Amino acid sequence: MKILKFGGTSVGSVESISKLLQIIEKEQKQSGNPVIVLSAMSGVTNLLSSMADKAAQGGTFSNELKELEERHFDVIKELLAVPRQNPVFTKLRILFNELEDLLQGVLILRELTPRTRDLVLSYGERCSTFMISKIAGQKSDEDVYVNAADVIKTDSSFGQARVNMELTELLIRDCYNSNKGKMLFVTGFIASNDEGRITTLGRGGSDYTAAIFGSALNAEEIEIWTDVNGMMTADPRMVKKAFSLPELSYTEAMELSFFGAKVIYPPTMIPAFMKKIPIVIRNTFEPEFPGSVIKHDCENSGLAIKGISSINDISIINIEGSGMVGKAGFSGRLFSLLAREQINVILITQSSSEHSITFAIHPSDAARAQHLIGQEFELELLAKKIEAPVFEQGLSVLAIVGENMKQTPGISGKLFHALGRNGINVRAIAQGSSEYNISVVISREDLNKGLNAVHDAFFVELNKTLHVFCLGTGNIGTTLFKQLLEHKDFLQKHNGIQIKVVGIGNTRKMFFDAEGIELENWQDTLQKEGEPADLSHFVERMKSMNLPNCIFADNTASLKPIEFYHEIFSSNISIVTCNKIGNSSSFGQYKLFRDTARLHGVDFFYETNVGAGLPIVKTLKDLMISGDRILSIEAILSGTISYIFNNYKGDITFHDIVKQAQEKGYTEPDPRDDLRGTDFMRKMLILARDAGYELEAADVEIKSMLPESCLNAETVDDFYKTLQAENSFFEDMKKQAENEKKVLRYIGKLENGKVKIGLQMVDDAHPFYALSGSDNIISFITDRYKERPMVVKGPGAGAEVTAAGVFADIVHVGANKF
Ligand code: ADP
Ligand code: ASP
Ligand code: MG
Repeated sequence: MKILKFGGTSVGSVESISKLLQIIEKEQKQSGNPVIVLSAMSGVTNLLSSMADKAAQGGTFSNELKELEERHFDVIKELLAVPRQNPVFTKLRILFNELEDLLQGVLILRELTPRTRDLVLSYGERCSTFMISKIAGQKSDEDVYVNAADVIKTDSSFGQARVNMELTELLIRDCYNSNKGKMLFVTGFIASNDEGRITTLGRGGSDYTAAIFGSALNAEEIEIWTDVNGMMTADPRMVKKAFSLPELSYTEAMELSFFGAKVIYPPTMIPAFMKKIPIVIRNTFEPEFPGSVIKHDCENSGLAIKGISSINDISIINIEGSGMVGKAGFSGRLFSLLAREQINVILITQSSSEHSITFAIHPSDAARAQHLIGQEFELELLAKKIEAPVFEQGLSVLAIVGENMKQTPGISGKLFHALGRNGINVRAIAQGSSEYNISVVISREDLNKGLNAVHDAFFVELNKTLHVFCLGTGNIGTTLFKQLLEHKDFLQKHNGIQIKVVGIGNTRKMFFDAEGIELENWQDTLQKEGEPADLSHFVERMKSMNLPNCIFADNTASLKPIEFYHEIFSSNISIVTCNKIGNSSSFGQYKLFRDTARLHGVDFFYETNVGAGLPIVKTLKDLMISGDRILSIEAILSGTISYIFNNYKGDITFHDIVKQAQEKGYTEPDPRDDLRGTDFMRKMLILARDAGYELEAADVEIKSMLPESCLNAETVDDFYKTLQAENSFFEDMKKQAENEKKVLRYIGKLENGKVKIGLQMVDDAHPFYALSGSDNIISFITDRYKERPMVVKGPGAGAEVTAAGVFADIVHVGANKF
């Protein structure tokens, strides 16, 4: 025989009750009559509670009473055959009249004792259960309505009464035996004390009722029917990627539910555990889904942790003072006091120096606890042996739970890494010595982000989500969106990474969507729904959205975003950029960015600062971290200059080749912007700094390839004229090179800590001799690569390769994030 318990949402509407009827019918056919335990209709217990509060304060409650009546009556009208309706209406009317009288009493007396509150709350389960028993029973008349107050006996701790198991089990068995062959419909949540006064088992206590019945009747299984697919790895309302666990142990379920997984009420586990009765959590709205089984001998799932849960709102109290050091009995006194006063302590930590104790309690107990501690330790406080306790509000507990934690080192490392990288400050930590649970206290504002970040870190079988804010929608930004869209599926499948672009901005508009912006039509969205662009607001939004695993992708070539880099790193957001300005301004700034990123545990990747997508920055970094020493770097890092000198041969004049380059779109509108070598200088400066040299732009020696007259020409047209006029200057150089069987190359060189850029003649033994097209090339000579240099060569410009480099950097942050 099974116990089937249906929660509030499963009895909350005509639709859900119809589903419940089907489930019961199927169960009856398969294994005979189950015992059914029912909650109040969803929201009813809260409604009753607020009606009682209102009455106690002298307010009216007639609207709520009407609402209650209507909700029940609507169900009866829909689901019960007309001839059977009247007796049920009558019985419910009697119950509602009683409730009204009771509330009227509260109103007159302006007094609401815990005992009266329990009585008021009991109407929820009594009404729903009676009504559903009649609806279910209309087919067979096998229904028996059982008011659990008649069989579950408790002490008088109203609101959270303790069950007298022995007596209760006897009474339940009696009741069951005297109704043999019938189907029992039992009110969840309620019970009664020795005097027959109604008590309740604590909020969510209908689950417990089911377990008590299960234990008394030695049920083969206790099924908890609710509105989710079982016990999940986290609360699905907070963590969208939470998934349901096929199996977990009683301890795991207990720990998870104690720390906020509301899906099952923690005391439920005890009677089931004692008798080894499996508890199955199932979804009324998806009855085919097998749900989660809580049982004794669980298969090893291979998961390091089973779930993450949280308590939304807690307060912590910190007590410090020299008077506590080495003094036995201090914490004993403190916690006995709290226990005596029924203040539930959620977690405790004590430093090993015994100088301070921190513990967490429910915020509603905070003021009372403060007062009580003040009284109890009055003398110690006066003598300054302890400081006045410090209270903090607005905090949450996040807990990871799982029995496998015990055998697996590195779990807490992973937890703190995920929190740290996302800028979440941990206020207190507690790990039970059983190692089933590690709990951390964090700010409430960070809870959602923390849950998602930790979930992503632990459940590797799921796709990790990166949240990317993209600034700049020029060639590179646009190409990046196209590439992200094209590779979305591949990334999810092969790298387990999901990239969500959650913000897009340019100089005109900006748009944000925490769920991810559709990249098929980002232009339209930005245009139609975007708000006016404002960079400081953009940064504010990145911070206030407080998403886990965030990246800022700066795809501009502008100075403005650079001013915010420090603030962005300080907000624990990684930066990926093709913008060279940040790294090539002052050395102080270059260093500050790295220091801030390191301090906050985030990444700063800028592979595309040098040679677009070519692996240059990364190669240099790898050489350095593996202990190699850079002896020199030689490079051609300008596609434009490369094109010009690679093609300046034979009969063509220097003027014509520059013109050709411009026509092909390889140059800036004023080709001198390329030929002056400023951009090249920036790249060399970044490489030199990455190689460990503290250089400023002014330290780089640039020898212009152009004669003065060309540089000084007023307009671009004039510039071309000077090129013609200076033809012999270039021809002479070329001739000389050809005579020596060499070619002209404009090369940057880092050697002995100095960077020089200038025109050189190289012979065919030089790796740069055979360069073609607009390729970039770089050669590293190091301790390890001394005989023959390490060379990286290939297209070093263009939107496709640059965007691909930015893309790779984003994925690279993803690899580090988890
Ligand atoms: P019922 O009314 O059926 O008793 P509850 O509202 O008490 O249902 O519990 C179900 C709810 O618990 C779910 O809707 C879900 O939002 C919440 N919940 C919190 N943590 C978890 C978790 N780890 N797994 C599943 N559900 C959870
Ligand atoms: N109706 C009660 C509550 O809302 C008990 C339950 O649903 O489990 O707390
Ligand atoms: Mg519940």
